[in-house]
Amino acid sequence: PAARIESDAVIIGAGPVGLFAVFQLGMLGIKAHVIDALDEVGGQCTALYPEKPIYDIPGFPAVDAGDLITKLEAQAAPFHPVYLLGRRVEAVAGDAESGFTLTTSKGETVACKVILIAAGAGAFGPNRPPLDGLEDFEGQSVFYLVKRREDFRGKRIVIGGGGDSAVDWAVSLAPIAEKVFVVHRRDKFRAAPESVRQLHALAESGAVDLVTPFQLSGLQGSAGQLTGVAVKDLDGNEKMLDADRLLPFYGLANTLGPIADWGLDLHKHQITVERSTCETNRPGIYAIGDVADYPGKLKLILQGFADAAGAAHAAFARVFPDQALHFEHSTTKGVTEL
Ligand code: FAD
Repeated sequence: PAARIESDAVIIGAGPVGLFAVFQLGMLGIKAHVIDALDEVGGQCTALYPEKPIYDIPGFPAVDAGDLITKLEAQAAPFHPVYLLGRRVEAVAGDAESGFTLTTSKGETVACKVILIAAGAGAFGPNRPPLDGLEDFEGQSVFYLVKRREDFRGKRIVIGGGGDSAVDWAVSLAPIAEKVFVVHRRDKFRAAPESVRQLHALAESGAVDLVTPFQLSGLQGSAGQLTGVAVKDLDGNEKMLDADRLLPFYGLANTLGPIADWGLDLHKHQITVERSTCETNRPGIYAIGDVADYPGKLKLILQGFADAAGAAHAAFARVFPDQALHFEHSTTKGVTEL
C-alpha cells in the first residue's frame, strides 16, 4: 500500500520561496514536508537559469541562481525538512478544522494541518514542438534547458525559438559550440535589444547561422542520438541541418495544473490571497511567491520571501491553537533545530 505521511505543514513547490518557507516555519517550531514535481529543488532558479547572476537579492550584490538555492537549502537544513521530489500534488481533501490530506502522483497521502502553496507558474512542463519521435531523443540529444553550458562544448546545436532564452543561449553557446543554428519562424527576435544585437553580430561573423523564417519539421537519428534536424519554410520547402543537439525554447506551459481544481479563488494563473496573511479563500491553505496574487504583487523572489514570513506567522495559530505567538527576531531566538 502507498505510504501515509504526517507533517505539521506541507509546502507545495521547492522553488526559492518554498525553501525559505521551511526556514520561516521552522523558526516557529513548525515541521514541513516539501513536495515538488521536479527531481531537484530550486524551481525556476534551478530549472531555467542556474548559472545566471541575480542582482536584486538584498545583501547579495550578485548571486548565481544555483548558488542562491544552495544557500537557501543550507538555511532550511537545521529544520530537517523532508523533500518529496519527482511527484506532483494532485488532490487535496479536508479542511482547517479536521486537517488536510494531500495525494501525490506517486499515490502517497500526506496528512497536515496547513498547506503553503509555493507553486510558482505551476508544475513545470516545457512547450514541446510537435515532432515525430521527439521523446526518444529527450535527455540525450534534445534538452529544454541548459544545466551546464560545458556539456555543449564542440556540439552542433539547433536552437528553436525567438525569445529571450533562444537568443541568450545562442549568444552564450556560440563561442564553445562547433556550430549554432537558430531556427525561428519570423525574421525578428523578441528578446532584449542588446542580446539581439549580439546575435546579429555573431551571425555576421559566421559563428551563428540564422535559419529564418523556418520551423522545425523533423528529427533524424537513432537510439536517442540526433544526426540532423529538418526545417521547413512557410512554402513547405524543407532542408536538413547537420546537428547533434536540439534546444527547443518555446517557453513553459503556464498552467497551474491540478491546483486550479481545488476550489481556490483564481485570477488568471494566480491564486488570490489576503495580503497580510497570504491565506486563500480556503482557511488553512496559504499561497506564497509567484503563484500568489494580491494588489501590488511583484513576481520577485524578495517579495516571495516576505510572503513566506507572513504565511508562516499566520499558520502558527492554526498549527498551535493553544499557544500565543511571541514575535522574536532571529538574532534573539537563534536557530534551534526541530
Ligand atoms: P518557482 O521557482 O516557480 O517554483 C515553483 C515550484 O513548484 C516548481 O519547482 C514546480 O515544479 C513546483 N510545483 C508547481 N505545482 C506543483 C504541484 N502540483 N506539485 C508539485 N510541485 C509543483 N526574480 C528575481 O527576483 N530577480 C531576478 O533577477 C530574476 N530573474 C529571472 C530570470 C529568469 C530567466 C526567470 C525565468 C525568472 C527570473 N526571476 C527573477 C523570477 C524568479 O525566478 C521567480 O520569481 C521565482 O522563481 C519564484 O519562486 P517560487 O518559489 O514562487 O516559484
